[in-house]
This record gives sequence, structure tokens and C-alpha cells, in this order.
Amino acid sequence: MELLRGLRVTALTGAGVSTDSGIPDYRGPDSPPRNPMTYQQFVQDEAFRRHYWARNHVGWQHVHRTHPNAGHRALARLEDAGVLVGLITQNVDLLHEDAGSRNVIDLHGRYDRVICLQCGRVISREHLAERLTALNPGFVESIGDVEDVEIAPDADAVIEQTSHFRPAPCEFCGGVLKPEIVYFGENVPRERVERAYAMVDDGDALLVAGSSLTVMSGLRFVRHAAKQEKPVVIVNRGWTRGDPLATLKVEAGTTETLTALAEALTR
Ligand SMILES: [Zn+2]
Repeated sequence: MELLRGLRVTALTGAGVSTDSGIPDYRGPDSPPRNPMTYQQFVQDEAFRRHYWARNHVGWQHVHRTHPNAGHRALARLEDAGVLVGLITQNVDLLHEDAGSRNVIDLHGRYDRVICLQCGRVISREHLAERLTALNPGFVESIGDVEDVEIAPDADAVIEQTSHFRPAPCEFCGGVLKPEIVYFGENVPRERVERAYAMVDDGDALLVAGSSLTVMSGLRFVRHAAKQEKPVVIVNRGWTRGDPLATLKVEAGTTETLTALAEALTR
């Protein structure tokens, strides 16, 4: 890690950074097989959408109550110390912001906002929670936990579980509401991608933490940094698509590695 000393670093983080906060990483080495829901399914299939919102209604409270871990706090300290120029995250949990990071690009959106696909209005997830609770009295209490269709062996049976759930339409135009999160099959808004490239340009090195870089939305920043011959350090348990481009690969957990890094570089 000495190769980062004296450099201004841009960070790119993924799900692995939040697993120690109790948020599962679907792509980690111990994860169940997954059939990610696509944007097209969400938009076109009403039953799918109903199930998604039912599960989101139950699971939202959980994400809402999670706390940043030592890895998030280490990155915030590195920013305070002037080492980190900014942070691009693929996570939608806002734990970097909670830990005190300021210059953050939420590449894949954020769980606390909802957008109307018809009129484009953005509302808070908290406000939607009140509406969903009013539309579905007793639902959360009655169902316990909703199975995740993305990791279920039989998606149809899982979707049947929630056929009585009533999703909320947009209260302004009646349109379909979607979490302000980028799904598979959906592009990250262009302006956000440009800001992220600029953040990579701003640093002398790129530090990737807790991402297997399986989707291009993250890998392109590693390619961008490598093309500029900037050092790329990857901290992740398991293989990543960026490994061939890495100057250094640290095969270890992000919480302890980032903590050690912050201690070394802020001394
Ligand atoms: Zn609307």
C-alpha cells in the first residue's frame, strides 16, 4: 500500500464495503445464484413490479436502520486528511454519506428516493412508506419476510406470495413509481458518468474496494485510470474483472484493509 503514499486517491466502492454493515452482497464468493431483475421486467410486468414493491416495503426498514462500519469511516477519514479526492460508489445504501464522506457520487442511485417514470417527479422513500402502509394495512406484520425473487429457484411461486399487495401509483399523475436506483438493463445517467470520470481524472490513483467489477458501469473507471497509467489498487475477496489492470490486488476484507490504510496514510 506504500505505492499510494503522497498520492491523491479516488475511490470506487461496491457491495463488499457494506457487508459488514449487514447488507448482503449478491455477487460475493459465498452468494446464492442470482437472476437479477431487469429494468424491462420492472416496467413491463405488473406482477413483477408488485412483488418488487412488496419486498421493498418490507426490506426498506432494514436498510434504513443499518449503520456505517469501520471501512466507511476509514474512507471518510482519508477524505478529511486530504488523501481522498472523492468517492464513487455502486452502493445505494448511503452509508458513505452517513459515515461523513462528502464528495460522493452515488453511481447507481440511492435507496431513499423514488422517481415517477411518467412525470419525472422525485419523492422520498419515507413518504412512499406512509402511503404503502396506508394502502396495505397489516401487510408487513402478516407476511414476515418476502422472498427475494432474484435468488429464488422458482420466481413464479415467489411472486404469487405477494399477489394481494397494492403498490402506490404516482400521486401527481398516476404513473409508475420506481426506486431511484439503476437496474440491470438500465444506463447510469450520462451526466453522472461524466462527473465520475472527472473524479477519476482528479486523482493520481484509483482505489477499488469491495467490488468484483462484473458490470461495465464500474469497470470502465478502472480502464480509464489504467489508460492514464495511474496506479490502480483493488481490495476485494475473490477475483474481479479489473484484476488484469491492477497495479496491486489485495485479497482481503475491505473493513480491516481500509482501516489499516487510513492509519498508514493519515499519520
Ligand atoms: Zn407522476
